[in-house]
Amino acid sequence: MPIYQYAPEAGNCPQCGGHFDVIQKIDDPPLTLCPQCDRPVHREICPVALGGSLQLQPSDVERNGFVQYRRLEHGVYEKTAGKGPDHLFAD
Ligand SMILES: [Zn+2]
Repeated sequence: MPIYQYAPEAGNCPQCGGHFDVIQKIDDPPLTLCPQCDRPVHREICPVALGGSLQLQPSDVERNGFVQYRRLEHGVYEKTAGKGPDHLFAD
């Protein structure tokens, strides 16, 4: 399942440090509140399919407004479809 990245609407969340990732199904609605502190959040990149777990064609990815990445090496992902940063760096 894709990983969604969230960021707070304002300020920093004391629980999650301002940013957190959530694994959700594609058709799950976006979270509007931080699950840890109930502050308003918004989805930054939706969704990020890490490791090729999301079996979508690039055309499907773009049509649905998704961003798809493929893993280049440990912690480095290259965008293969959609709008978003060309590369992601994750731990
Ligand atoms: Zn939080």
